[in-house]
Amino acid sequence: MLYKRSSALFKNAENVIPGGVNSPVRAFKAVGGTPIFAKFAKGAYVYDEDDNRYIDYINSWGPMLLGHAFEPVVNAVIEKAKKGTSFGMPTEIETKIAELAVSMVPNVDKIRFVNSGTEACMSAVRLARGYTGKEKIVKFAGCYHGHSDAFLIQAGSGAVTFGSPNSPGVTKGTAQDTLLAIYNDIDNVKALIEANTNEIACIIIEPVAGNMGCIPPKDDFLQKLRTLCDEHRILLIFDEVMTGFRLAKGGAQELYGVDADIMCFGKVIGGGLPVGAFAARNEIMNHLAPLGSVYQAGTLSGNPLAMAAGMAMLTAIENDKDLFKRLADKTEYLHKGCAAALNKYNVTHTINRRGSMISIHFSEEEVVDFESAAKGNNETFKTFFHGMLNEGIYIAPSAFETWFITDALSYDDLDETIRAVEKVAQTL
Ligand code: PLP
Repeated sequence: MLYKRSSALFKNAENVIPGGVNSPVRAFKAVGGTPIFAKFAKGAYVYDEDDNRYIDYINSWGPMLLGHAFEPVVNAVIEKAKKGTSFGMPTEIETKIAELAVSMVPNVDKIRFVNSGTEACMSAVRLARGYTGKEKIVKFAGCYHGHSDAFLIQAGSGAVTFGSPNSPGVTKGTAQDTLLAIYNDIDNVKALIEANTNEIACIIIEPVAGNMGCIPPKDDFLQKLRTLCDEHRILLIFDEVMTGFRLAKGGAQELYGVDADIMCFGKVIGGGLPVGAFAARNEIMNHLAPLGSVYQAGTLSGNPLAMAAGMAMLTAIENDKDLFKRLADKTEYLHKGCAAALNKYNVTHTINRRGSMISIHFSEEEVVDFESAAKGNNETFKTFFHGMLNEGIYIAPSAFETWFITDALSYDDLDETIRAVEKVAQTL
């Protein structure tokens, strides 16, 4: 593959954009090399500025569940744009998409639209604090909920300690209110709650983690969290920014049969436009301004183009009864093919999968939390990543990311991917 034009574009970008990118992971820092610049994309493929074609397993980090440039979304956006791109006034389509989303997701009465997953999670936490009158939050090491200060916290010396900021600019005061727990370890969560009696407003979790590679919840971990939250008047927040409308129509709540108190959405719900949302029952949502006193707002929230894209996306999902089975079948096929290819060349690995989320960890150990995810061999991952890129397969440039399977992938695409894994496995 030639990356001549991408390299030149990256050099130009570095002059005027910090690190040449508008979101750090795009810079390929974890794997080395120069990021490829996208020119256009259609269906399962993305094409770069050097006219290389890739089978895309990033899919804009999740939104493109039905493939790139999905026609109903594109047409909806074009038609809306002709009538004005923003009004700062209520529009009918906001109610229509809210009605649709509320009908698809279990256990919610109202939804508020924002502009990103970060905003959704940040607002959900504020709402939980306002509703419970408590200040501390519990998050899990390795889970990502956007770049709001309260989430940029790393573990302290022991799990039952306060976290400390992992970015300059996050104050110690903020870090003190974020407690770090271990994913899939219910005893650890219990200990945190006992050490902070009556102080915890909410537990926020990715119900299937996708930001330390894909890590599904073990056994009845989510159900046990639910029980603990009920016992201690703590709100359970499912960050469904990745899982919402991806694992099932009703997201992880539906898939695992566990009700959360507040759900956060992003990615798929906007069909590729900048959209996030959070939702809950009336009892909680009615605390939001202007009904209640918890403030939350946005100049471009409910933007007509974004709502049109989201509406077209959710409508397509709602009307496709086999979608989630098709996605899970394709992911299983890929899992089996990759495992066989890696086994053929004795490459040590663990594959995690749930629905249309999957990741390969170059580790012997079962990967169940951040610590076990971090044991993966990063050098092997780097070689694998560049090998796959060279074969025309675009996976996330970090071992700590899930792959997102799109319905636009054909079984031929999956076979091509598996052949590439087999070829690259020989070099590992
Ligand atoms: N929550 C989860 C689970 C995410 O994966 C992400 C982003 O990847 C976010 C929140 C933040 O969303 P955004 O990047 O749209 O702000």
